[in-house]
Formats: sequence, C-alpha cells, structure tokens
Amino acid sequence: SALTQPVANAKGVTLQSVTKRYGAVVAVENLTLHIPAGSYCCLLGPSGCGKTTTMRMIAGHEEITQGDIYIGETRINELPPAKRNTAMMFQNYALFPHKTVWQNVEFGLKMRGLSQADRQPRVEEMLAIVGLSQFAHRKPHMLSGGQQQRVALARALITRPQVLLLDEPLSALDESLRVKTRGELRKLQRQFGMTFIQVTHNQDEAYALADQIVVMDHGRIDQVGTPQEIFAKPISQFVARFTGDNNIFMGEVSSVVHDTQGHLIQLAVEGLGTLLCRGDFAQAGTQAACCVRADRLKLRSLSRVAEPEPAVNRLSARITAIEFTGYITRVTLMSEKTGAEMLYKSRTTDLMQTPLAEGQVVAVEWSAADCVFLAH
Ligand code: ATP
Repeated sequence: SALTQPVANAKGVTLQSVTKRYGAVVAVENLTLHIPAGSYCCLLGPSGCGKTTTMRMIAGHEEITQGDIYIGETRINELPPAKRNTAMMFQNYALFPHKTVWQNVEFGLKMRGLSQADRQPRVEEMLAIVGLSQFAHRKPHMLSGGQQQRVALARALITRPQVLLLDEPLSALDESLRVKTRGELRKLQRQFGMTFIQVTHNQDEAYALADQIVVMDHGRIDQVGTPQEIFAKPISQFVARFTGDNNIFMGEVSSVVHDTQGHLIQLAVEGLGTLLCRGDFAQAGTQAACCVRADRLKLRSLSRVAEPEPAVNRLSARITAIEFTGYITRVTLMSEKTGAEMLYKSRTTDLMQTPLAEGQVVAVEWSAADCVFLAH
C-alpha cells in the first residue's frame, strides 16, 4: 500500500551558522550541520547542551536568532511549523488523554482535511505496523508506557513527514522495553526511508540507532561522526569522557617523533612519568591528553612482571571494585601513585581463566597504538 512505501521525497536538513540566544544565555552557538536525507541522526550531549533547542528550531517552535535552516533546498527560517513537513514526537508523548488510540493516530490526517474514507485504511495500516490494532479503542491511560510510545510514533508517522524529530522518545521506558523499542524505531526509519533526528543523552542509544552522531557541549558541536568513529576516535576530552568508558591521562607533550607509522607522542603526566601515544598531530610544550578505552587495557598479575623493566605505559593499581554485568565485567582500579581512578572492561569468560580480586594490586598496561591523542 501507499503507506508502507518509503517516503520518496525524504529531505535532508541543513543548519548554517545557527545561533539561539535567550537574552544573555547562548543556548546554541554558530551551529553548522548537514543531516543527509533518509538518515538517522542523533544529537547527543549532556543536559543543557542545546539539543532540544536545536530540534525546536528545526520544527519551527523556536525562533532562530541568527543563521539559516534548510529542509532540502528550501530555507525555512520564517515558515510556520505546520508548513515545514516535519513532525515532532515528544518525551512525554503528548497524547490526547480523552481520545482513543484510533483518534490520536487519526488526528494529523483529520487536520489535513482527509475524508473519513481516506483516513480509515491509513489508520488501520499504521496501527498494524506498530502492533496496536487490538488497542484501537482504548484511551492512553489504559496503555503501558511502551504502548503509549508506539501510539505517539504512529501519530507522528501517519502524516508521512519528510523529517521526524524525536525528543528523548525512549526515556519513559524501562531498560528492556527501551532496547526493544529502539530496534523498532530503527526498523521503521529504514522502512519509511524518512529522515529521523533524535535527541538523546544516552550514548548506547545513539550508538544503536544513528547513522550520524552529533556530540554537543555548551551549545556547540564537538564532533560529528558515525557511531564507530565516535567510539574509536573521540576528538576531544569531552567526547572521550561522555561517549565511552575511556581512561584519560592529561599532561604536557614533551616530544613528538615522526616515524614510519606517523607521530609518536610523549606525554609527561604528573605522578606517572612519560606515556607514549600515537596521534596525528601534536605540538611539544602544549597541554593535551591521551585516552585509552577500558577494553584496551591489559592487566597483569604483579608477581609475573620481571622487575625492573622499562615501564612504558605501565602503572601499578589496586582493584577497588569488580562489577559483573553479564557478558562484560567492569573492573575499577586506583593508581597506586596518583590515586587516579581507572576502568577496565573484560569479557566475563576471559576473567574466568585469570580471576581477579578486590584489593589485589596489578600492573596495568597498554600499547601506544591503543591510545587516542586528544589535543584539547
Ligand atoms: P536537556 O537534555 O536537559 O533537555 P538540552 O540539551 O535539550 O537539555 P536545551 O533545552 O536546548 O538543552 O537548553 C539549552 C540551554 O538553553 C540551557 O542552558 C537552557 O537553560 C537554556 N534555555 C532553554 N530554553 C530557554 C528559555 N526559554 N529561556 C532561557 N533559557 C533557555
């Protein structure tokens, strides 16, 4: 049927030097971003970083202080929300409490003046897509959170917007439902070929859903990339801290050596000595950091380390906590020298062969190639 065909006219969204000020507060600052047509984009960042404001400007619920927003080729700065061909799905779903599921889903079509005969098959099909056919005559309060979420989604999708904006759509769901529902979101986005832009402060959600993640901090973009890029190569301390289980060491670049594999950077870290790190560019004498993902650390029992050995990217640490989370076990350590906390993650099955204990002191090591150099 017409409904399940992909949206042929899906449009991309472009923000060009967009700024939003509320008096002295700069909520969004000079944001430039292109979101390709038919892609899934997640705006990721901590509370107050400007995610919602960005979405509201795209939807037209918020005036733009400076800059331009385009949907496809069309500049939409002054276009009223209803003319933008976007739909927004809110955190609290904003369902009409006194309308049935059917009436909630039908609403957008009614507003567009479609006849009863034209509405009927489209509502029926949409309810089937989100698996709510048998709940058509219930009111929202008689539904679970997950079901309400699907009503909200159906209501947003039925008008076939070129761009669907989702503000923390999964935050009201419990963990298992969240994981299930995000799979459904992704499937629907693929099926419809629509441009989805979603706000989230949850890194796992962004990783699972997005083609493109936009990491925001203080109204600015810190990094744009695929989930794999953001995970493997954060470009700043902020992104490294926010998106991953990264161990970050701050210090001063003491030397940069060029060799066949690129740049080998020496970072002087107070209390730890010199760490070695591979990176693209670094300037001696500048403050910088390197980060090592929790799963890239290697732990060795101290007794097996033949002392003395040149200690490069090695330090001794005490295990302060071991947390079993199923497939993965998280081990928290504290550097014996600096007291800094570190995180190690291992497949649980690997730890069964070499058990660790809280209180144990181990050697923590990592290779220079597993470090990501962070210039800022
Ligand atoms: P959250 O995840 O908590 O929703 P967010 O990243 O979506 O946060 P925004 O809601 O976009 O953040 O807010 C960005 C900044 O703008 C915040 O500092 C906020 O206090 C400020 N702000 C938002 N709306 C207004 C307003 N109407 N008047 C004044 N300041 C505002």
